[in-house]
Amino acid sequence: ENPQTPIMEERKGRRIIMFPLPFPGHFNPMIELAGIFHHRGFSVTILHTSYNFPDPSRHSHFTFRNVPHNKEGEEDPLSQSETSGMDLIALIRQLKQSYAEPFRQSLAAEVRGGGDTVCCLVSDAIWGRNTAVVAEEIGVRRVVLRTGGAASFCAFAAFPLLRDKGYLPIQDSRLDEPVTELPPLKVKDLPIIETKEPGDLYRVVNDMVEGAKLSSGVIWNTFEDLERFHFMDCNSKLQVPFFPIGPFHKHRDDLPFNTKNMEDCKTTEWLNKKDPQSVVYASFGSLAAIEEKEFLEIAWGLRNSERPFLWIVRPGSVRGSEWLESLPCGFIENFGDKGKIVKWTNQLEVLAHPSVGAFWTHCGWNSTLESISEGVPMICTPCFSDQHVNARYIVDVWRVGLVLERSKMERKEIEKVIRSVMMENGDGMKERCLELKEKANVCLSEEGSSSKYLDKLVSHVLSFGS
Ligand code: UDP
Repeated sequence: ENPQTPIMEERKGRRIIMFPLPFPGHFNPMIELAGIFHHRGFSVTILHTSYNFPDPSRHSHFTFRNVPHNKEGEEDPLSQSETSGMDLIALIRQLKQSYAEPFRQSLAAEVRGGGDTVCCLVSDAIWGRNTAVVAEEIGVRRVVLRTGGAASFCAFAAFPLLRDKGYLPIQDSRLDEPVTELPPLKVKDLPIIETKEPGDLYRVVNDMVEGAKLSSGVIWNTFEDLERFHFMDCNSKLQVPFFPIGPFHKHRDDLPFNTKNMEDCKTTEWLNKKDPQSVVYASFGSLAAIEEKEFLEIAWGLRNSERPFLWIVRPGSVRGSEWLESLPCGFIENFGDKGKIVKWTNQLEVLAHPSVGAFWTHCGWNSTLESISEGVPMICTPCFSDQHVNARYIVDVWRVGLVLERSKMERKEIEKVIRSVMMENGDGMKERCLELKEKANVCLSEEGSSSKYLDKLVSHVLSFGS
């Protein structure tokens, strides 16, 4: 697109303000969406919590504003020491509480600050109703971004029903029972997060759903051919315009966030030396933590499978360890060049590499969509929340992966599952995954649903113009 075309001129001076939730699984898709809007001629300001504030130099197309956690001089309730023992729901509650007022002030300053016309606020759905109230008070329209899939959203939206019917809280004796109201989910697939105070989980989920109902539209990082039925369901529940325009990261090849560091280049060099589709890529996302015992089973399972592996171990993600200390002496050295362990990688690049044959994942929605977009079959070990729902769809509906339940994560079983997924023509899984990849590409093509919904979204946002 030529930046001088009349349509772009018209949009000059149109600004979108974004308010991501400060975790990689939420920030990454928001920044990808920012790139999509930017390419359509909008300028983007990102209001970001001081908690996990990103390096703005990595995203030079956008303006970043630091939303401070509280008044000067007050202690930070979200400092490293305060949050280290918190569970995710407690952390989200604390974030929502600490940033409610600072967000109001930051948004007001942005909107009233003059300069560009602010078209709308795009806030992460998890921020909930408060962002709706604040946006209304300040007089700016609000669209929400849901970074998860539509199927899991339907399950979240059904929480009140699931509680009434006695599925929630989950009882261990009912884990394998089907949830007849939400096929093909079983009780054990319901998207719960362990938390000290279960009421908090229901409040966070309810606030997300109610906040979406109050919005001027929901943007989804998914595509119609993948979750068509669930859009209809969500639509009837939310009664607001919806825009499934994913996979976000595939809209363009040169998205500005996709940068590589030295370590990533070394990883690519390592992958370049491997046979096509021979490598198992193992990563459990940015939040999940495992016990030391599980860590060792994973290590031996990967090694015994005798396939090359690239394994992401985030520092601090193994309970009680800083990083790899609990591996047996010589484990890595003995394995030679066949295995590689790194702290973090450019996952998009890795999944797109022809040497990668399978992705052992926790089934976070971004990882799921990224794997599907590259046609890489999955080994599914969901840990919490929507990951369970995603895994059920990967395994039973799209049939592009095998499950390896966390409770059965033992070296022999790991070895067996890796071998099954990596087997040539293993049950047509690779072919089905390539078909889904193709469907994603069709949705993103000029006449495809994601492109059309994006056009609609752009018109929708422009129609807010004050
Ligand atoms: N990711 C990455 N490098 C890594 C591990 C993860 O870039 O080494 C990215 C991954 O591409 C995805 C995000 O982090 O976009 C993780 O999001 P997901 O929804 O899969 O899981 P979460 O971290 O929210 O549990």
